[in-house]
Amino acid sequence: MTTFLAGGTGTPKLLAGSHDVFDPADVTVVGNTGDDVELGGLLVCPDVDTVLFEGGDVLDRERWWGIEGDESTTHDYLTDLASAAGIDQRPRYLADDGQTAGRDIARWRRFSGASEFMFIGDRDRAVHVLRTSLLDEGHSLTEVTRRLADAFDLDVDLVPMSDDPVASIVHTPDGPLHFQEFWVAEGGEPAVEDVEFRGAGDADAADPALEAIRDGPVIIGPSNPVTSVGPMLALDGVREALEATTVVAVSPFVEDRVFSGPAGKLMDAVGYDPSTAGVADAYPFVDAFVLDDADGTDLDRTVVRTDTEMNDEADAKRVARACREALERVGGAEVP
Ligand code: GDP
Repeated sequence: MTTFLAGGTGTPKLLAGSHDVFDPADVTVVGNTGDDVELGGLLVCPDVDTVLFEGGDVLDRERWWGIEGDESTTHDYLTDLASAAGIDQRPRYLADDGQTAGRDIARWRRFSGASEFMFIGDRDRAVHVLRTSLLDEGHSLTEVTRRLADAFDLDVDLVPMSDDPVASIVHTPDGPLHFQEFWVAEGGEPAVEDVEFRGAGDADAADPALEAIRDGPVIIGPSNPVTSVGPMLALDGVREALEATTVVAVSPFVEDRVFSGPAGKLMDAVGYDPSTAGVADAYPFVDAFVLDDADGTDLDRTVVRTDTEMNDEADAKRVARACREALERVGGAEVP
């Protein structure tokens, strides 16, 4: 068995090339749900969905989110209608008491659909309608995610990190913003003072996710250590499980240069150097790192180097092979 921990860009990119390197029948992917939001009553799970769409071969690989060729009829009409009604199109949180009313899974990240500040394509929306409807029928997020994975014909087991609400909240000098408001609506511009995983203290890791991490070995793809992997580490038992199994991580940095996204800024805010060295500090349980050829960071752990830039499947396959080699070196995989 091999378990991947996934955010919404770096690890899905790696998964795109992993099929020939790790037998998909033996792979579990644990998706981050701290980025999830409820928008207009629909639960949107951006990281899980990117894995879902990548595995189902419908992902828009230019943006690394959403469905390729999706249409925008509902989103455009909704936005036009709301604007004509004079509704400000900035993110609109439901009122405080509305944040904890309704379905538990959406706590502290509940936005009115009167401003659809995240683009949701027509087909993408159908996924959210189906997910939310099955949740409302009483199924857990793990059950619903597996049903969706069946519908998209995934060859790996995809599960969310938790069936409980965990909301990634970015604290700025002007107040708290949900991660999606910080990143999508504000373009990652506001200064960051701290990052909170609201609810993590009361949330349990879902059993299939925790079992897969315990069984290991685990590969942490080049995901954002703060908002993609951080919510998982905040769940009871996950750190301990990672300490007890073999773990390989791919750096999302080349020394102090990040490939994309706000990882550097967020790491800085929570007290880690925004670099590969900082990633190693954030992941004391990692046995071996896969670093870019151009990354000369001197680490006190096993290092395998390759070109870690992934623009296509061949790139991803190369990085997946480096992960396999790293696992073999630290005794987490059989040499074939
Ligand atoms: P998010 O949920 O969209 O933030 O996605 P992730 O956390 O899964 O991935 C974001 C991280 O992926 C960023 O920190 C990037 O530096 C990293 N990343 C994106 N593309 C690549 C790539 O081609 N190679 C490597 N090594 N990292 C990448």
